[in-house]
Amino acid sequence: MDHIIIENLEVFGNHGVYAEEKKLGQKFLVSARLYLDLRTAGQCDDLESTVHYGKVSALIYDHMRQHSYQLIEAAAENIAKDILLKFNMVKKVELKIQKPWAPIGLPLEAVAVCIERGWHSVYLGMGSNMGDREDYLNSAIAAIDKRDDTFIGSISEYVESKPYKGMDQEDYLNGVCHIKTLMTPEELLLFLNETENEMGRERTTHWGARTLDLDILLYDDLVMDTEQLTIPHPELHKRDFVLVPICEIAPRLRHPVFNKTMSDLLLELKDRYVIE
Ligand code: ADP
Ligand code: MG
Repeated sequence: MDHIIIENLEVFGNHGVYAEEKKLGQKFLVSARLYLDLRTAGQCDDLESTVHYGKVSALIYDHMRQHSYQLIEAAAENIAKDILLKFNMVKKVELKIQKPWAPIGLPLEAVAVCIERGWHSVYLGMGSNMGDREDYLNSAIAAIDKRDDTFIGSISEYVESKPYKGMDQEDYLNGVCHIKTLMTPEELLLFLNETENEMGRERTTHWGARTLDLDILLYDDLVMDTEQLTIPHPELHKRDFVLVPICEIAPRLRHPVFNKTMSDLLLELKDRYVIE
């Protein structure tokens, strides 16, 4: 992918674990690789179509001067986030902070941290079958919208459905929401669980009635399976109340395991119902 490179921007800053590092300061070298599409800028020769590397360099420089971190890890994390939030054409950033004068009493050339951070495209499933169901789904969206590291893309219509697996419960209201986020899958799950809890959800039985259920359906093209988290959501292709709303906003989106589009999966699910 196209990228812009800023190499070894020299900044004198006051970062470090030792008191002398904070007091006296030392030299840091910061490099950044900004991933964005440069085709339009290349064709029209217009600064508006790209990212001004002078402005990004100034952001890095000012951030390094105005803060005093213990760790260059923290400096890198915060600078990467600032770049991604302020320059919205940048999809991903690689950041390297070098500390050539690291006071460890050994003759090393430099020590450095390198991180890669970027925007992730995520589809969330939302469901409620207690109380004011529509209000719970809307409140979930409002909670997501409040975060500075996450943006709401499209939201499906809400659809009514019968309780899953024939459970004796009230009908559900379900929807799907597309977001762009800087959160990792684990951070996102934690945030979703906190939001569910704030809406008064009590986890009694699996698939039990709930004020709010928030699931990660898809996270980029990621395929993962840990004790806490399965992505894509393992029930995604089996649930019409997920496939119908996701097809409304992203019918051609591809399932990374089955390599089928959401509309293909919905058609298959409908076929299966006819046969059974
Ligand atoms: P369900 O959503 O299947 O009705 P729960 O909401 O009670 O059930 O989820 C229980 C657990 O499922 C969560 O605590 C979480 O750790 C786990 N889980 C695994 N994969 C996912 C995912 N993709 N999205 C949300 N939760 C998930
Ligand atoms: Mg859930």
